[in-house]
Amino acid sequence: MSSRSAHRPNARVISSEKHSRSGVGRRRTPSAVLSEIRRAAAVCKACDLWKNATQTVFGEGKPGAVYMMVGEQPGDSEDRKGHPFVGPAGRLLDGALAEAGIDRKDVYVTNVVKHFKWSLAERGKKRIHKKPRSEIEACRPWLDAELEVVKPKILVCLGASAAQSLLGKDFRVSRQRGQVVGSDLAPAVVATVHPSSILRARDEASREEQLQDFVQDLKFVAKLAKAIQ
Ligand code: SF4
Repeated sequence: MSSRSAHRPNARVISSEKHSRSGVGRRRTPSAVLSEIRRAAAVCKACDLWKNATQTVFGEGKPGAVYMMVGEQPGDSEDRKGHPFVGPAGRLLDGALAEAGIDRKDVYVTNVVKHFKWSLAERGKKRIHKKPRSEIEACRPWLDAELEVVKPKILVCLGASAAQSLLGKDFRVSRQRGQVVGSDLAPAVVATVHPSSILRARDEASREEQLQDFVQDLKFVAKLAKAIQ
């Protein structure tokens, strides 16, 4: 087996984690399964992104979380700290969740790609986000494994990369945000913008308007969760 294939998402590894090491068929707890998957993802080399990133940034939250929120990829802060949504966009998300009445403990956060894709700014040493492409498909088994273990009631796609990866390339967040989409990924799937797009608003008034639209989407998602429970 090549070193490349030894470190790629492996459905057999993932499903085998459902069973105890004793091999007598006792099922492991979802938390234990998720921890095993996280450890396997930490050494993934299924695409080239691991080479220039600090570490794998796996999803965080509890199995059985009501909501799974999926973004595109970790950013600079997340890459350095090893946790998803801990940079400026994550702080905006936390504030919006609180405003929408969603308890952060009920949310599992993750990304469609688990390593930071970046290039150096022309001037200075700043690492600039680069849009992932083929890496989204390479990384998909990890997201599928998270979905299988967490089993969220509501799946929320944050931004176009996550929405198009999970709902098809023709999905347009600009037209279809806030709509419940039929999918076998979760009982309800909704897409909205990525919080980082709000941070890029051209001025303060526009940023505030986009933030309130985002909060409205999250309030809708919270209502949906109550209706499903
Ligand atoms: S981005 Fe995903 S598929 Fe690529 S190396 Fe990282 S964990 Fe593996």
